[in-house]
Amino acid sequence: METTIVAIATPIGVGGVGVIRLSGPNSLDLLKKIFTPAKPCEYVPRKMVFGNVEFNGVSDDCLAVWFKAPNSFTGEDVVEIQMHGGVKLLEETVKKLLEVGATMAQPGEFSKRAVMNGKMDITQAEGLIDMIYADSIKEMQVAGSQMRGKLYDRIKEIQNQIKDEIAHIEVALDFPEHEETFAEEKLKSELPIIIEEIDKLCNTTEVGTKIKNGVNVCLVGAPNVGKSSVLNALVGYDRAIVTNIAGTTRDTINEGYTYKNIKFNVTDTAGLRESDDIVEKEGIKRSIKSIEESDFVIFLYDNAKKQAENDEILTYNAQNFATVLNKIDLKSQNDTKKFDLCISAKEGVGIEELKELIYKKTINQSLLSEKVIITNLRHEKLLKEASQNLKKALNDLDTISLDCISVPVLRAWELLGEITGETANDSIIDAIFSKFCLGK
Ligand code: GDP
Repeated sequence: METTIVAIATPIGVGGVGVIRLSGPNSLDLLKKIFTPAKPCEYVPRKMVFGNVEFNGVSDDCLAVWFKAPNSFTGEDVVEIQMHGGVKLLEETVKKLLEVGATMAQPGEFSKRAVMNGKMDITQAEGLIDMIYADSIKEMQVAGSQMRGKLYDRIKEIQNQIKDEIAHIEVALDFPEHEETFAEEKLKSELPIIIEEIDKLCNTTEVGTKIKNGVNVCLVGAPNVGKSSVLNALVGYDRAIVTNIAGTTRDTINEGYTYKNIKFNVTDTAGLRESDDIVEKEGIKRSIKSIEESDFVIFLYDNAKKQAENDEILTYNAQNFATVLNKIDLKSQNDTKKFDLCISAKEGVGIEELKELIYKKTINQSLLSEKVIITNLRHEKLLKEASQNLKKALNDLDTISLDCISVPVLRAWELLGEITGETANDSIIDAIFSKFCLGK
């Protein structure tokens, strides 16, 4: 028989309220064993009951609610107990529930049960977790759309198109003399459309990963050009130490800000210059690594100094960057037209323009407006493989028999099914849910 699992559903820490969740056939019976209603009552689904839990001479007031299967998050009988949010209080209550017969939930087990009971598919469960971890509005919007099944629907549409191609092949195999040419023509005209749709979806990962992880921006320049000051101006508070002593920032400093609902992670690097100082040298090594790993690099110059002094900086291999002249409040030593943007971190001049410049150079607007955006590398990998299989089928159409062509076409259908969970085996499903948090 299916076990009844229990876990603390709220974060471990002190809070006004903490929630314990049970799921499984004995949820209500287990509740009755540890919880005493304030007045005798019949439990009614979705109706809160006030009462208390008692252990070791301690009693806590709490509220309990029962969700009767299948109308619950997991599709099983679920009970939630809201009590005061003390760590010990919640832990002792869970201990009591374990003593009377509950089983400790594994990470992600509530969501896994929801998937197994057909309450949602894997993409929706993954969307839900992304929603919980989201720290920008755009990330919440994309996760929310996935949670509501938009990705699932799109994958299903594509799978149905592939199914039509499989049907053409099967009919042709049964009636080769009548249908073979027809099937080949269909495959030749329709497979490219399906491939294009998969590739289009896959390409949204470029913006999807930026939405999920943030856009990595790196500030680079000679010591004292104002990198720490620019970082502070971008994030809106004094995160990095600003001094006029060259070499103050010896390690990389990371801090984030949100612009147009997207998260940007800024790295303030150690100033790039020749140095014999062992600590500074290590900082410079890390700066070069940051340049290589960033989505965008700001090469910063000091307006009070002649540009030639900084020229060596541009030898590093940045893919996407802008040259920015700082300290324009000071008397110019440079031709300002040579720079992408001129700012004063000290006076706060040009900071909004800098944010807009970074946004425009890193966020692909047409991808951002797509209805379904891929943020999960597992999905991207499966989409790529499905596309490759269909491309192989298309390439081999003129040289290989139709029954062999059906193999990669069918494989593409299965790979897409792994995204939704339909064709995923137990070990894949276990691996996905093991990354979820406890109590979810
Ligand atoms: P970093 O070494 O590149 O990180 O440079 P800092 O941010 O520590 O700044 C070095 C010095 O330049 C400090 O004295 C700052 O106050 C000064 N500074 C930074 N930005 C500006 C600016 O826009 N205008 C002026 N006048 N001084 C600035």
